[in-house]
Amino acid sequence: IEPLIKIENLKKSFPIQGGVFGKKVGEVKAVDDISFFIQKGETLGLVGESGCGKSTTGRMILRLLEPTSGKISFEGKDITSFSHTELRKIRSQMQMIFQDPFASLNPRHTVEKILEEPLIVHGVKDKKARKRKVKELLEIVGLNESHLKRYPHQFSGGQRQRIGIARALILNPKLIIADEPVSALDVSIQAQVLNLLKDLQKNFDLTYLFIAHDLGVVRHISDRVGVMYLGRIVELADSEDVYTNPKHPYTEALLSAVPIPDVDFQKERIILQGDVPSPANPPKGCAFHTRCPYAMDKCQSEKPVFKEVEKGHFTACHLH
Ligand code: SF4
Ligand code: MG
Repeated sequence: IEPLIKIENLKKSFPIQGGVFGKKVGEVKAVDDISFFIQKGETLGLVGESGCGKSTTGRMILRLLEPTSGKISFEGKDITSFSHTELRKIRSQMQMIFQDPFASLNPRHTVEKILEEPLIVHGVKDKKARKRKVKELLEIVGLNESHLKRYPHQFSGGQRQRIGIARALILNPKLIIADEPVSALDVSIQAQVLNLLKDLQKNFDLTYLFIAHDLGVVRHISDRVGVMYLGRIVELADSEDVYTNPKHPYTEALLSAVPIPDVDFQKERIILQGDVPSPANPPKGCAFHTRCPYAMDKCQSEKPVFKEVEKGHFTACHLH
C-alpha cells in the first residue's frame, strides 16, 4: 500500500556567509540525504540530539522550508513540485504541534480566536459552524467551554499544549508532525499529553511524525523509530527492535543515557567523548567516528552505507 508520506533523498543545506560582502563561504548540511516513509495510521519517532536535522526534516515535509533537493510525496503525489495554490489545499491535511506552545500561541488572542483562525484561513464561512467546531475540539483535548475566553498565559503548560493540539486538529489533518511536543512539560504531565496523542490517533485515524531528543519519550508512541546524527539517519527499525536490539553505536549510547522501563538491553551508561561535531564541518567517513567507542580505521575514511541488516532493520555502520 501507498505510504501516506514518503521522503526520498531529502537534503537541506544552509549557506554560511562571511566577509564584508557576505559571500557564501561554506554550507551546513542540515539534512544530508535521508529517505523514509510513514504508513497511514503509523507513528514514526525521529530521535537525535539538537542540531541533527530532525526539526528541519519536519519543517520541509510541511514545506515551511524548501528542500535543497529530494522528493516528498504525500498520498503518492510529489508535493515538492506543487504550486502555492496546490500546496495551500494540502496544507490543512498536514499540521504541526510545537515544542513550546507558549511561543506558538498568540498571547493577545483568546483560545476561541486561536482555534477559530485556521478555520477562517481555510475558508469556513459559517460562523456558527466554526464556533461549534472550536467547542468540539476543546472537549476532545480535555478542556471545555469555560476556557474559550481565556488567554494562553492563564493556562498551565500542559493545558497550553492541549490548546496547541486542538489547533493542529481543527482542520481534520491526516498527518501530524509533533516537534518535541512534551519536552517543555513536567514529567508528570508528559505522560498525560502522550496518552492524549495516542487516543487522538486512534479516534481520528492520524499519522504521526514524532520528533524527540531522547529515546525514552517516543518509546510507547512509536511503531518505528529513526535515529538521526549530523543530518543523516543512522538507524531505522521497528520500535521494539531499536530498544532491544540496537545496531548502531550511537543508538546504543542514546539508549544508555535514559532509563527506560522494561528495556532489557540497557547496560552501563555509555559516555560519548566530545561534543557533536559542527554540521558545517562534519567528520569524514562515518560522521560518528570521532565519538564512537567501536571506531575502526576504515570508519575515518569510508562512509558506511545505510542498508537493511535484518528484516526491516536499517543501519549505517561498518560493524554490520
Ligand atoms: Fe562506529 Fe565505525 Fe560504525 Fe561509525 S561505522 S558507528 S565509527 S563502528
Ligand atoms: Mg528542534
